[in-house]
Amino acid sequence: MFINHNYKEIVESIPQEVVLVAVSKTKPIEDIKEAYREGHRIFGENKVQEMVNKYEALPKDIEWHMIGHLQRNKVKYMAHFVNLIHGVDKMTTLVEIDKQAKKHDRVIDCLLQARIAKEETKFGLEFSQIEQILFSQQLHDLGNIRIKGLMGMATFTDDKEQIASEFAELSAFYEKMRARGCQLEVLSMGMSGDYEIALKHGSNMIRVGSAIFGDRNYLAGQ
Ligand SMILES: *Cc1c(COP(=O)(O)O)cnc(C)c1O
Repeated sequence: MFINHNYKEIVESIPQEVVLVAVSKTKPIEDIKEAYREGHRIFGENKVQEMVNKYEALPKDIEWHMIGHLQRNKVKYMAHFVNLIHGVDKMTTLVEIDKQAKKHDRVIDCLLQARIAKEETKFGLEFSQIEQILFSQQLHDLGNIRIKGLMGMATFTDDKEQIASEFAELSAFYEKMRARGCQLEVLSMGMSGDYEIALKHGSNMIRVGSAIFGDRNYLAGQ
């Protein structure tokens, strides 16, 4: 069940320059088609196989974003079509993406995932590690990937001030890297529960799932 009404409301409420990634993970093809008929073209998935299946079944003018944590051995299955990989948090993953992109004669855009949440999480890089990667010769030598920006997820909490401070921190770091000459254009922050806060703190790409498509089955949806 896809709630059209919410989709329009969200699109109308966000600034035009903000990119809305409709997170369709666990949702059926029919739901994506409905959003597609509304004119939406950018969808996010967190599992490679599911994204591949949907890519094959749906019109080819859709932009597919991989937003989930990525296993290196899965990169090859999506290297021919993925538009943006949000959650890169290892140099070795970048090397693999570069290698697979090269096979398809493509340049794949990636975002480095920053660890901003104060909760325990395995994923994401510290700012110092991001800085190291951005200014490394190794990155410079990878000709088939481009680091287009940064991505972050705030702590899962009701404390809006904490969420705001985490987004503000990432935004400040993003601006600092830009000021130092990094060609970053994308700051991907904000989900259904916190995208309004993220937009106040400099996000220009939001990843919204349940607010558009309705709640996911909890077990399947994480
Ligand atoms: C599932 C997911 C989202 C969307 O979550 P909602 O709360 O449904 O909007 C955004 N980003 C990432 C990385 C996700 O895994």
